[in-house]
Amino acid sequence: MAIKTPLICEIAPDTYAINEFGTAAMYLLVGKERALLIDTGCGICDLKAVVDSLTDKPLTVAATHGHMDHVGGMGCFKEMYINEKDWEMTKSVAGKADEIKSYADSFGKSGGYEIYDYSPDRISENIAVPKLLPLREGQRFELGERAVEVFEIPGHTPGGCSFLDEKNRIIFSGDCCNINLLAPECSVTATLKAIEKFKSLSGRFDQNFNGHAGFGACPNCLSQPKSVPDDLIHICHDILEHKGTPFQFEFLGYPLTQMKYGNAKLSYDPDRLGD
Ligand SMILES: [Zn+2]
Repeated sequence: MAIKTPLICEIAPDTYAINEFGTAAMYLLVGKERALLIDTGCGICDLKAVVDSLTDKPLTVAATHGHMDHVGGMGCFKEMYINEKDWEMTKSVAGKADEIKSYADSFGKSGGYEIYDYSPDRISENIAVPKLLPLREGQRFELGERAVEVFEIPGHTPGGCSFLDEKNRIIFSGDCCNINLLAPECSVTATLKAIEKFKSLSGRFDQNFNGHAGFGACPNCLSQPKSVPDDLIHICHDILEHKGTPFQFEFLGYPLTQMKYGNAKLSYDPDRLGD
């Protein structure tokens, strides 16, 4: 029987991963006084109803970055924290309903429709942009006996941010540090610097949940392998030292150049090694 609602998994006490039919993962962190929703997915599901089914605490909404599969559901909410460097990107998502539908459909056709019963047509034609609030390095969300700190990790997008849940030793990294890092819009040296920063935080977390846990037709809900920051750093050095052979391929219609090492892959711009 196909799955008709987003998959919800309690990955730690009062901490929920919400898998939107394999297209994106959102996270709900519930404290004694407030709840924090990290990312809003593609907008295929009624995310507000999903959140309301899990908590009645006052809600803060924040996004790791401005890509359409992370802010597509923002229209359910009145305001959303997101780094100002991604505001223009976020606003542009209002006019991208067809692009998001096509993206969600591509996941379905690549296996998602075999396990999920969803229609990309549920995505609103008119995606409302909530009031955008600035998200910055060092910002803290106090949820009541639980605090979440923000770190800017640019690369995948200029305004990419990660959220560190200190109590549970989990970092929610959006798309900024995972096994399949797409960073073709910044230089390799900038990616290297960002991943080194991410790695410098590794003494403060045990698990790294990214924005696509339960990716595509694989409904798992696993933390990223611990070696990912080191593997990505290794790849950056290989690229900068002209070692190894890059792999060329197409993803969602875009040509990409990729290198692999260990558990990780990095897609990058071969014409932009430094700034
Ligand atoms: Zn992204």
